Amino acid sequence: MNIDKSMPVMVTGASGFVAGWLVKKLLEEGFTVHAAVRNPSNKEKLNHLDSIAVASAGMIKYFKADLLTAGAYKKAMEGCSVVFHTASPFTSEVKNPQKELIEPAVIGTENVLQSVNETTTVIRVVLTSSCAAIYSDAIDCQKAPDGILTEEIWNTTATLDHQPYCLSKTLAERKAWEMNKAQSKWSLVTINPSFVMGPMLNPKYTTSESFNVLKQMGDGTMKMGAPKMGIGLVDVRDVADAHFAAAFHPEASGRYITSAHNTDILEMGLSLHEKFGKEYPLPKKAIPKWLIMLIGPMMNKLMTRKMLRNNINHEWKADNSKIKKELGISFRPMQETMQDGFQVLVDNGIFS
Ligand code: NDP
Repeated sequence: MNIDKSMPVMVTGASGFVAGWLVKKLLEEGFTVHAAVRNPSNKEKLNHLDSIAVASAGMIKYFKADLLTAGAYKKAMEGCSVVFHTASPFTSEVKNPQKELIEPAVIGTENVLQSVNETTTVIRVVLTSSCAAIYSDAIDCQKAPDGILTEEIWNTTATLDHQPYCLSKTLAERKAWEMNKAQSKWSLVTINPSFVMGPMLNPKYTTSESFNVLKQMGDGTMKMGAPKMGIGLVDVRDVADAHFAAAFHPEASGRYITSAHNTDILEMGLSLHEKFGKEYPLPKKAIPKWLIMLIGPMMNKLMTRKMLRNNINHEWKADNSKIKKELGISFRPMQETMQDGFQVLVDNGIFS
């Protein structure tokens, strides 16, 4: 399927960390981007996109929309060929996971796709799903064939009490496939990134959990060590390329694991030492399991005992061959991703 590149495209949650690089890519490629955000008058959250638009061939137009309001994205997608649905809360700081994670993710996806059904011009939807829709904890890899996660696998272990963010992404992606299968006007491609790192375009105003983890590596939180917690890692710039290819590659179809490296939190921290080790209290060694089991639950709501038990000292492995082969995506080295991300926090005074 070939998509008319002269038509505008829409991005939900355009203010976000991941979406920022996608919007940048689209603007640089000359697209008119309909950027749907909760608050278009919050200029501090959007200045970075305005500056990129001024310097590039494309144009940006803002639309006000909230995931929980039915029909909210209808106006923004009028005349668009592609809808990139990235908006979804990614935070560990929640009191009520049903209200704060599940509802915006699932009801939001339903609302966006209902409007896609009603908008004749939209023929492709690219959904930012996640590896979280494939697994909850690194220990889940043990149940995967050969210990490796693939696009065939769905998360069956997340619940409201355990890894509710993973539950939100799983239910939202399932809803998207269900709505896709019920019609024949638009095709659906999902990008399923692992943990996204790399430079933030607007670090002072980000809400992404990616920011919190990177910040904790340099602010002393991990000076006693970092958990050897298996995880996948991918550069935000590669994730943007993956979304772009998912939209415009004629052969793109199905789910795409978008993960560059099978790694762990300690290794991520160690990759920063060469450049930043002298000046910042980076993690140097693995924090003992008993210690993180003791203090983890106080440091971050995500780190329940069950979560720690199921992730520490467990390897994480995923197969990224589908996206490389079908969409031609290549991935940056981990050190470049980590260092470029950390440098942006330094430049923005996040550690001062
Ligand atoms: P951000 O917090 O930077 O972006 C989340 C976006 O969702 C923001 O633009 C936010 O808008 C928007 N949003 C949240 N709630 C609502 C709502 N009720 N109505 C409208 N918009 C809303 O996080 P990321 O960039 O990291 O995440 C973007 C996407 O990528 C998410 O779908 C996330 O699940 C997915 N993802 C992220 C990974 C990562 O490691 N960062 C890994 C895998 C997937 P506002 O600016 O108004 O708050």
